[in-house]
Amino acid sequence: MNSSAVDEVVGLCQDLLRIDTTNTGDPRTTVGERVAAEYVAGKLADAGIESRLLESAPKRANLVARIPGADRSRGALLVHGHLDVVPADKSEWSVDPFSGEIKDGYLWGRGAVDMKDFDAMVLAVVRDWQRTGYVPPRDIILAYTADEEAGMEYGSQWLVQKHPELFEGATEAIGEVGGYSYTVNKDLRLYLVQTAEKGLDWLRLHATGRPGHGSFIHDDNAVTALAEAVAAVGRHRFPVVVTPTVRTFLEQVGEALGIDIDPADPELAIAKLGPIANLIGATIRNTANPTRLEAGYKDNVIPGRASATVDCRTLPGQAESFLAELREIIGPDVEIEHVHQQPAVETEFGGPLVNAMGAALRAEDPGARTVPYLMSGGTDAKAFSTLGIRCFGFAPLQLPPDLNFAALFHGIDERVPVEGLKFGVRVLDRLLRNS
Ligand SMILES: [Zn+2]
Repeated sequence: MNSSAVDEVVGLCQDLLRIDTTNTGDPRTTVGERVAAEYVAGKLADAGIESRLLESAPKRANLVARIPGADRSRGALLVHGHLDVVPADKSEWSVDPFSGEIKDGYLWGRGAVDMKDFDAMVLAVVRDWQRTGYVPPRDIILAYTADEEAGMEYGSQWLVQKHPELFEGATEAIGEVGGYSYTVNKDLRLYLVQTAEKGLDWLRLHATGRPGHGSFIHDDNAVTALAEAVAAVGRHRFPVVVTPTVRTFLEQVGEALGIDIDPADPELAIAKLGPIANLIGATIRNTANPTRLEAGYKDNVIPGRASATVDCRTLPGQAESFLAELREIIGPDVEIEHVHQQPAVETEFGGPLVNAMGAALRAEDPGARTVPYLMSGGTDAKAFSTLGIRCFGFAPLQLPPDLNFAALFHGIDERVPVEGLKFGVRVLDRLLRNS
C-alpha cells in the first residue's frame, strides 16, 4: 500500500478526538456530532468522495457514502463507526480528554478506542485509495453514525428505518468491537473477531401495595415487596450457557494456551485470561443487574407503588427462557415493564470475509490467529443486522501484551497505542482490498 494512509491516520484521529462529541443521552446536552460529521465529510470531499449528511434531529448528524467497486453486481461491504463518545470528567484524567495529546507512545482522549481510532483508519484508507486511483473489488458503503452511546435512536436505528435504501445490496459489515490482539506469547497473538452480541432488555419492575401511615402495622408495603424482588434478582446467578460462538472461542483459546477448558464450567479458565477476562466473563450467562430504585415521597408515608430498573443482557436464543426464569425469581406479584429492548445477534465465523480478516492480520503479524467472540454489550451492528447484513466487530489493533484494553472503553485515560493504530490501517487496507 501507499504509506500515506499510515502517515495521516494519527493526525486524523487527533482531529476527531479534539472535536468534543459527548453524548450524555439527553439531546439538550449532547454536542458535536454535526461538527464531527462535517469534518469527515470535508476529508472525504478533499479526496473526491461524495457523502450525504443526514440529520435525525437538529445537530444529530449521520454521514453515509458509497464508493463504487469494480464488480457492482457483488454485495456491498458496509464499514461503520460512530462519532459520539461517552462523557469524560476532566478532573479524573491525566490529560485533557479532548486534547488529542500524544504521550508515552499513546494517543490519548475520549474516543481513542471507542471508536474514533477506527473512524480515522477508515478515513485514511479511503483517502489513500482516492489519491492513487484504486478501485475496491466491490462497493464499500461508509457510515459514520450519531448516538451509538445512548441507544442509537438518532443514529443507526434511525438510518435503517428512514433510509434503508442507502444500504441496499450490503451483505456484510465491519465495525466495533473486535480485531484487537490478545498476546499468548511472542509467537502467538489471538485477534478477537466479534461475531455475536448479547441482547439487551431494560426492565422496570413495579410493586404495588396499600398506601398508609408510616406509624401503623402494615403488611402490604410496596417498598418491601419491591426490595425483596430486587434483592433476589441482584443476587441470582444465571446458569452457564455456552453458545456456538463462545464454544468455538473457548476451544481455540484453550488450544492456544495449552489448557483444558471444560465447556460446562469455563469460569475458572476464563478468570485466568488476564486483560480479556472481563470481556469474556459476561458472555457465558444471562445477566440482570438492578440499576435504579424509585419509591416514596415522604419519610412517614408508605407509598402505594415502588419501581426499579434492571439492566438485563441475554445470550443469543435465550430471551424467552431468561424471562421465564426472571419471573420465577421475582414472584407473581411484581409487574414487569419492558422499557427498551434490542435483540441478540449472532453470525457464523466463516466465509470469504472472515478468511480475508485472518489473511490481512497474518500479512502484518505472522503470529496472528483469529478467534470469534461474543460481546456482552451492544453496538450499531444490532441496527444494521436488521437489514439482513452479517455484522462483524473488526477494528484491527495490535495491543501491548499487558494493556488492560477492556478497561479503556468508557474508562479514564482512554488511549490508543500509536503503533497499534498504524498497524490497524495496514490491516484494514489489506482486508478491504481483498474483501
Ligand atoms: Zn463504541
